Amino acid sequence: MKYVLVTGGVVSGLGKGVTASSIGLILKACGLRVTSIKIDPYLNTDAGTMSPFEHGEVFVLDDGGEVDLDLGNYERFLDITLTRDNNITTGKIYQSVIDKERRGDYLGRTVQVVPHITDAIQEWIECVAVIPVDGKEGPADVCVIELGGTIGDIESMPFIEAFGQFSYRVGAGNFCLIHVSLVPVLNVVGEQKTKPTQHSVRGLRSLGLTPNILACRSTTELDENVKGKLSQFCHVPAENIITLYDVSNIWHIPLLLRDQKAHEAILKVLNLPGVAREPALGEWTSRAKLCDKLHEPVRIAMVGKYTGLSDSYLSVLKALLHASVACHRKLFVDWVAATDLEDATAKENPDVYNTAWNLLKGADAVLVPGGFGDRGVQGKIVAAKYARENRIPFLGICLGMQIAVIEFARSVLGLQNANSTEFDPNTRNPCVVFMPEGSKTHMGGTMRLGSRRTYFQVTDCKSAKLYGNRSFIDERHRHRYEVNPDMVAQLEKAGLSFTGKDESGRRMEIIELPNHPYFIGVQFHPEFKSRPGKPSALFLGLIAAATGQLDAVLKKGVTKTSAMSNGTSVVKSHQYGNAKKAANGSLDAIYSNGNGVHI
Ligand code: GLN
Repeated sequence: MKYVLVTGGVVSGLGKGVTASSIGLILKACGLRVTSIKIDPYLNTDAGTMSPFEHGEVFVLDDGGEVDLDLGNYERFLDITLTRDNNITTGKIYQSVIDKERRGDYLGRTVQVVPHITDAIQEWIECVAVIPVDGKEGPADVCVIELGGTIGDIESMPFIEAFGQFSYRVGAGNFCLIHVSLVPVLNVVGEQKTKPTQHSVRGLRSLGLTPNILACRSTTELDENVKGKLSQFCHVPAENIITLYDVSNIWHIPLLLRDQKAHEAILKVLNLPGVAREPALGEWTSRAKLCDKLHEPVRIAMVGKYTGLSDSYLSVLKALLHASVACHRKLFVDWVAATDLEDATAKENPDVYNTAWNLLKGADAVLVPGGFGDRGVQGKIVAAKYARENRIPFLGICLGMQIAVIEFARSVLGLQNANSTEFDPNTRNPCVVFMPEGSKTHMGGTMRLGSRRTYFQVTDCKSAKLYGNRSFIDERHRHRYEVNPDMVAQLEKAGLSFTGKDESGRRMEIIELPNHPYFIGVQFHPEFKSRPGKPSALFLGLIAAATGQLDAVLKKGVTKTSAMSNGTSVVKSHQYGNAKKAANGSLDAIYSNGNGVHI
């Protein structure tokens, strides 16, 4: 096993995760099998209890692990399936050491950060690195490890110490350290400044680690003399200094690395020259270029709670992007704060209310993503009602599906106070209820989590067709509440179709309105399994419906979505399209970190 460690210096938010995923991707494109580990030096055991507001979305894995969103980048870029153990946190490491101490494994000895914590880190890495993640047997060739945080943080010290020992133990030729750093350009003179990188490399060295490769974030390509200076002061060969300058979309980053021969430098350090072929990135390159060229818009209104921070819905945005590119449309996401759509806002702040409604009405499709808590629920309900009544394509995910059911019960069944017991525990018409197996006292890891099977109930429905007419699908879950099984018959009689259920037949997984152009709700999160070249079926359906391509997609039989891996490409048709003209809020804005840096 060969290890590539990616560290970050100078400032956070340099796009280390995307850089590490891109490194994995070019190595994979060279013919190597690649796995990855993300280290988060915080004390939480996992990301499950962390607010998406602060940390971005909680990514969910097949095995039910609730992990950092960077694991999503790895899965999407490398098309792999990771496990919860691929995300290491300080909390997990300490918990394992403390468990051992209580068991008596260290009997008589003093348990310390060095060597016990540092040993536990190394053991964890070596155990997890050999877990196959690409569907093939046996361990991968290379494990890319991303160390979260910035060099110098107190939290990451035990990890740095562990890597110092680890690199020595596995030996030169098996360990490559890539340091992602920043080369700022001072506006006044337009000069690229190397000092911050020099300092951060010095910091790394003082902790016992020597970088083999520098990946420098900068607005433009590094000048040769700047590279020379960095090489001299940081003791890294000039050919091992890569510039990650700003690009139009993140799919260009692996191409930047390839163009600067980063793979050759890495393979040389890892003593693998000759083993690998030239990176095969043909499909990837065409997609990156296609994405730049798209101009016909598709506008999606995202009606949610955390509308201030796009990272809170990262996988949903990626899934929308994958589907839009497959439908040859440029994606525009209009963030609509659910509370802004509510009557209370009309009175208190009519301008905000009108803006929100104008955004909703200007959209080609409406998406209500997952969420927790009652803030904005009423706004989401009116958004679902608007989409249902006006025949606007709608996709409700997890909470979004529950919202659609509540709305249907209220408007169509006339049950005015129908609600989820999450929001009104005493409702007389509980159409969404707490699941019997959940825990109300413990929050961490107690939801219905991870990959569960959904069986289609009928073949003649949009969801089954979009999923390629399979009898069942496996998608990822993260919820505590479900549609009340006792109200299903009543809802069904009124025209709501439950097209997907779990193996027991009591748990509702997919809802559809058969007479609507596209109105689908799912209890699972299809966004987590969407891939750049294999968009998630239901997202593809949504974008296709929003752009007048749904019939073509259904007729053609979609054969290349995240649920399937073989077959031909998706629709390439341009002749349809009812997309309205773009006004604001482009993908560029979504992926910009505020400095015009697209990460
Ligand atoms: N809050 C809802 C539940 O727990 C929905 C969860 C979600 O959207 N992920 O069931």
